[in-house]
Amino acid sequence: MKYDADVIIVGAGLAGACAAFTLSANHDVLVLEAKQPASGASGAAAGLVNPFMGRRARPVWRLRDALHAVSSLLEEADAPTLFPPQGVLRPIIDEDQEAAFREAATEHPDLAEWLTPADLQERFPSVQSERGGFFVPRGGAIDVPAMVRALLSAAHERGATLETEAPVVYWRETPSTATVEVGRGRRTEEFHADRLLLALGQGYARFPELRHLGLTGVKGQTVRVKRPDTLSGMLVPLSGRGYVVPDNEALVLGSNYDNNFDDLTPDPQATAYIREKTARMVPGVDETPILDQQAGVRVKHTDTNLPLLGPMPRRERIWTFTALGSKGLLTAPLLARRVPEYLQHPPLLPDAIHPPEA
Ligand SMILES: Cc1cc2nc3c(=O)[nH]c(=O)nc-3n(C[C@H](O)[C@H](O)[C@H](O)COP(=O)(O)OP(=O)(O)OC[C@H]3O[C@@H](n4cnc5c(N)ncnc54)[C@H](O)[C@@H]3O)c2cc1C
Repeated sequence: MKYDADVIIVGAGLAGACAAFTLSANHDVLVLEAKQPASGASGAAAGLVNPFMGRRARPVWRLRDALHAVSSLLEEADAPTLFPPQGVLRPIIDEDQEAAFREAATEHPDLAEWLTPADLQERFPSVQSERGGFFVPRGGAIDVPAMVRALLSAAHERGATLETEAPVVYWRETPSTATVEVGRGRRTEEFHADRLLLALGQGYARFPELRHLGLTGVKGQTVRVKRPDTLSGMLVPLSGRGYVVPDNEALVLGSNYDNNFDDLTPDPQATAYIREKTARMVPGVDETPILDQQAGVRVKHTDTNLPLLGPMPRRERIWTFTALGSKGLLTAPLLARRVPEYLQHPPLLPDAIHPPEA
């Protein structure tokens, strides 16, 4: 059978775009996207690159490699300016977080520094915290939809093809071919490849085969507000009581975590909650005009909270790349860099991210 591409990638979010870029260096790649690039979670993300997560300063999986992968992938795609060297700051507001973040700064002196309240006041006067802060100079923020577009455009220059408005409705494999069917109104159109990489994000919920992987979707939203006029001094991306990401004249605020949702529209109650909690770090963001709101679904693996990459159970040619959770920027580039090698030699895949048998 004649292939339409070596690899067909389904989904043009962060996972699909990162994989399209790395695979297109040596393969013929076709990306099929149901709507437009970054229409899922990648379109709602605040874009923080924050390697120490949560209230306990948990380092992300493969921390140093993950940080290196973000900047090196963007450099290779000729888009390094999307990740400006700003750092990310955690103002310590709650007493019970102080010890964990102080400890993390001592444990990772090459990645993080502890700021006393006086240091913090001097360097970031618009940020409120009487307990000091935890600063990660190599962190920061990226405009995720812009990153998706840049990677797809760089993949295109290497010969990859992107088809938008191309919802995949079915897939199958034979010993020699992976096939997908794209819905075209009442008909479907088939595409054939050596391998298929499913990077559907929340699109998984329509497909029992993907649901059996044990995924959970958590809805969240970001709120873009006008930067308050009163805000003086340098502002860096902040993570603490929610997060605040400066974007020119706007600030992107996040987020909430909703396990029970019926639709993907932004919810006014969540907006109020996000503004109220972020105002504890940056006073005034709860009073300035709202410019835009976006909701999306973070997909995570319920048991491990690690990304999944590899062949689907009992499949050879049909792979998935999903479950990036709340930290797509620190998982997608890291794994995408090795996708070409893993496709060639599946035993190299780390067990921790292998799609599990049901
Ligand atoms: C509110 C919010 C804030 C976030 N903030 C951050 C942050 O600050 N930092 C960070 O690192 N991460 C953040 N994340 C997480 C990050 O957005 C995700 O980890 C990442 O974007 C997921 O990328 P993905 O490609 O797996 O999925 P998606 O971005 O959801 O992409 C999936 C794509 O597949 C397409 N698709 C679905 N079904 C089909 C089909 N049948 N056929 C064809 N195409 C299909 C969709 O249209 C979509 O474009 C946030 C997420 C949310 C919701």
